[in-house]
Amino acid sequence: MRSIYSLSLKDLENYLLENDFKPFHAKQIFRWLYDKRISDFDQMSDISKKMIEKMKEDLSIETLEIKDKQVSKDGTKKFLFKMSDGALVESVLMIFEYGYSACLSSQVGCNMGCSFCASGLLKKQRDLSAGEIVCQALMIQRELDLDGKRLGNIVVMGTGEPFDNYDNVMKALSIINDPFGLEIGSRHISISTCGVVPGIERFAKENLQYNLAISLHAPNNELRDKLMPINKAYPLEVLFEALKDYASINNRRLTFEYLLLKGINDSPKEADEIRKLLKGMNAYINLIPYNKVSEKDFETSDDENALRFYDLLKKNNVAVTLRQKKGDDIDAACGQLRANNIK
Ligand code: SAH
Repeated sequence: MRSIYSLSLKDLENYLLENDFKPFHAKQIFRWLYDKRISDFDQMSDISKKMIEKMKEDLSIETLEIKDKQVSKDGTKKFLFKMSDGALVESVLMIFEYGYSACLSSQVGCNMGCSFCASGLLKKQRDLSAGEIVCQALMIQRELDLDGKRLGNIVVMGTGEPFDNYDNVMKALSIINDPFGLEIGSRHISISTCGVVPGIERFAKENLQYNLAISLHAPNNELRDKLMPINKAYPLEVLFEALKDYASINNRRLTFEYLLLKGINDSPKEADEIRKLLKGMNAYINLIPYNKVSEKDFETSDDENALRFYDLLKKNNVAVTLRQKKGDDIDAACGQLRANNIK
């Protein structure tokens, strides 16, 4: 059965119209789902019995089952959700000075095969539906409801490649962003891609205000080919041409993510290559400590080396931040909780 959470406001209006109901009820229904966050059609007290019965016939209102939950000392919460077909998906709730942020998965497993990443240990089983992506955010908001708190930010940085599941991710974000939906502002929504160029080109044309983040991790093709197979399909010069086109249309600041991998990409040579690569772009680079994955040989850079790398970029006028570690006492690396649970 189709999930009601896969329907945008427009989809729900069309559904009501097709069934001889007035489309304006869609907004009321959205309020029940995303504002009051009810779990049963019968709780929609201002919706007619007839409409409720029809929806019960056609649409599922089921959300996700919490299979596991880990809480870190710093407040980070990691959820393992079970989908209706049994597939397992991870989402993370993080607490920052600026508020609560949810990291959502876009696929069950991932096919991008980045050599350092735990998500790729298990190949992609399937794409997540828009409703399954929306429900991750909704479930996390329900968790926050217990403390009267509100989810303020969404990052699509969990398991999966969002631009390999473009339509469902975009529909989900439109529901999350909708003033009658979860009402999270565009500028508080970020999508992270490993560099799927056709997705970047499509995204550029939509002229949405979401933030775009690129997992860079290596500033030259030789190294990037080894770390990220996507680079063989879309090498750096192709990627950066697409990013420059994006920037010329959207005028938005780009984020580059850069994992600090000890002895691999953290020497002054790479810092200088980053400087050249980002020159003249409206962008900043976020240096990220690597979360250890037991199946992989990679280690995060020593603190001393990380700081030296950071200072070197800063000195060369590259806009750079060094990300604080979150939840490193739990299975925080992408795909770790899921992989450990399946094992
Ligand atoms: N496929 C998308 C989004 C999911 S991955 C992308 O590649 O951007 C989200 C981010 O986590 C990426 O930057 C990814 O490279 C990074 N990542 C993967 N494994 C990690 C690990 N063990 N520790 C820290 N970051 C990791």
